[in-house]
Amino acid sequence: DASGSKGAAPAPSKPDGVLLTFRDLTAQRRSEQMRADFVANASHELRTPLASLSGFIETLLGPAKNDAAARERFLGIMGAQARRMSRLIDDLLSLSRIELNVHVRPDTVVDLCGILSHVRDTLGPLAQDRAITITLETDGSAMPVRGDRDELIRLFENLVENALKYGGTGQNVDVRIAREPGTQGDVAAVSVRDYGPGIAPEHLPRLTERFYRVDVAASRDQGGTGLGLAIVKHIVARHRGRLMVESTPGKGATFTVRLDLSDDAAKNSVNTAA
Ligand code: ADP
Repeated sequence: DASGSKGAAPAPSKPDGVLLTFRDLTAQRRSEQMRADFVANASHELRTPLASLSGFIETLLGPAKNDAAARERFLGIMGAQARRMSRLIDDLLSLSRIELNVHVRPDTVVDLCGILSHVRDTLGPLAQDRAITITLETDGSAMPVRGDRDELIRLFENLVENALKYGGTGQNVDVRIAREPGTQGDVAAVSVRDYGPGIAPEHLPRLTERFYRVDVAASRDQGGTGLGLAIVKHIVARHRGRLMVESTPGKGATFTVRLDLSDDAAKNSVNTAA
């Protein structure tokens, strides 16, 4: 059709187009609402520490101007508030980056066992602070998956960190990785288990919502942003995996991530080096 009339031609009467438009509008409205809620929540989360910072600045310029002890204490609190804002911004940026890439499946092969021992080492100091031992149980075999190494580290760091934060001082955190048969080949099931107060059943379905917290004060005390499990959910989705939460209140919580194993790809990339 070289006449250039393509765009002006009357549309063929196909009902599909109309139907799609209706569907899109509903989905679009819902996603606009979610975006608006998200922006409102994020602004509120940032405004809280900011208001506290402004208050301390005023006090330091006024009533506490010549009080060295108060200055020392207030500056300490202000530092903590600034760190909280910076954590929140980091989490917001990670979330938006992962969300943008959620349809792109990562292509490199990484070993989950290496990632989990890295996570255990990184969180060692926090565990030690709380007199918690992180155990890592594997069957000794490699667990290769297609994934983004940094995101998988982030995913398991968030889960283990939550177990350390909410699991209770002096309790163990058990990380276990096991091979399970799946519908299309084997899967790796990684579970992170704590023996803390657990989570009441009514909260379980909402845990991965952005800014959802069971106990807001407890989350703030632990330096939480309320975005950890939302980030976890998106990383799992990008890796075409599954996330499961189980909890018996009073006995602890177990978060399990299942990812397809990629044994063939692992043979290709690992054995060439041997
Ligand atoms: P936060 O930054 O508040 O930790 P998350 O998204 O990581 O945010 O977790 C959301 C909420 O889920 C937490 O505030 C906490 O109430 C609850 N939670 C997460 N992990 C656990 C756990 N292992 N035990 C008990 N509660 C948990």
